[in-house]
Amino acid sequence: MQTGQAAVQLNDEKLFQLCKVYGERARFWRQKFIGLLPEVYRRKLYEKKGFCSVFDFAAKLAGVSNEQVSRALSLEKKFQDKPDLHKALVDGEVSVNKLARVAGIATRENQSFLVEQVKILPKSALEVLVRDEKAQTRRQAKAHSLRSCVVPGHKQDEQLPIMQEARVEQLMKLQLSDEILEKLVELKDKGIDVNALIGGMLQKREQEIAQEKEKLAQAQSVEKSSRYVSVKIEHLIQKEYGNKCAMPNCKNNADHLHHEIPFALTANHNPYFLKPLCKNHHVIAHGIQLAYFGARERTRTSMLLRALPPQGSLSTNFSTRARIN
Ligand SMILES: [Zn+2]
Ligand SMILES: [Zn+2]
Repeated sequence: MQTGQAAVQLNDEKLFQLCKVYGERARFWRQKFIGLLPEVYRRKLYEKKGFCSVFDFAAKLAGVSNEQVSRALSLEKKFQDKPDLHKALVDGEVSVNKLARVAGIATRENQSFLVEQVKILPKSALEVLVRDEKAQTRRQAKAHSLRSCVVPGHKQDEQLPIMQEARVEQLMKLQLSDEILEKLVELKDKGIDVNALIGGMLQKREQEIAQEKEKLAQAQSVEKSSRYVSVKIEHLIQKEYGNKCAMPNCKNNADHLHHEIPFALTANHNPYFLKPLCKNHHVIAHGIQLAYFGARERTRTSMLLRALPPQGSLSTNFSTRARIN
């Protein structure tokens, strides 16, 4: 599209396209400008040039809000020991808002991974990534406290009731019918080990799934590949994972069937490497694949991001999601 066209002569679609192009350029250069601010602040360049503060400098030269300036300056301090994140900030590679989202979970070890994710993931997926990371830390702390029989923040004599309460809550979640509950109690009264009984049933279920999976995986290795996942595999995945996202503690419905090894590399749908995921975890999974499968996956990920409809608009019907890698 040519620039300099009088807006009045453009139809709605062309005017909208032009707004998007200019908007994108404005965001890009504003990001670059914000990246310079820590150095401007360090040199007190704003004073030398007659501005009363770095905030005044940023507002007058680029219309940047005080909040964005504070964010950039505080992140720059926070990232002193994390060179990859620091570079992403001062080079204006990504927005400070996105960097601020991951700052709380950033470590020297995960910083380069986070930079990669900040570049490709939309804000909503980044939030889920951060939430998962925090939940994982909490789970580890909880597992540690359970091992040492201590619930953090409570005195010794308060521990038992709190732990019992948590068990009751989990039992209520099962919503056992009166009939099943009565039968179990009856069996227990007869001296039958109810735990062993249920444990055996669960084990049988797992064995059935494992056998079926092995059979389907073998068939996949010889079958002619199709873009679409077979109904048999869809049923097996549904049997194993239900209709929710496969990520631990994610309560969202699964919207997509994800190939942990890209279909483009294997040309099959080996059920060992298929996972039902919600929209955000699917985007995150592709962000993680980038680290393993490189530039080729980068193209697929950006295609995926563009192709994804708004959250919740896909049904949980496996046939609709099975088309997406
Ligand atoms: Zn996928
Ligand atoms: Zn999820």
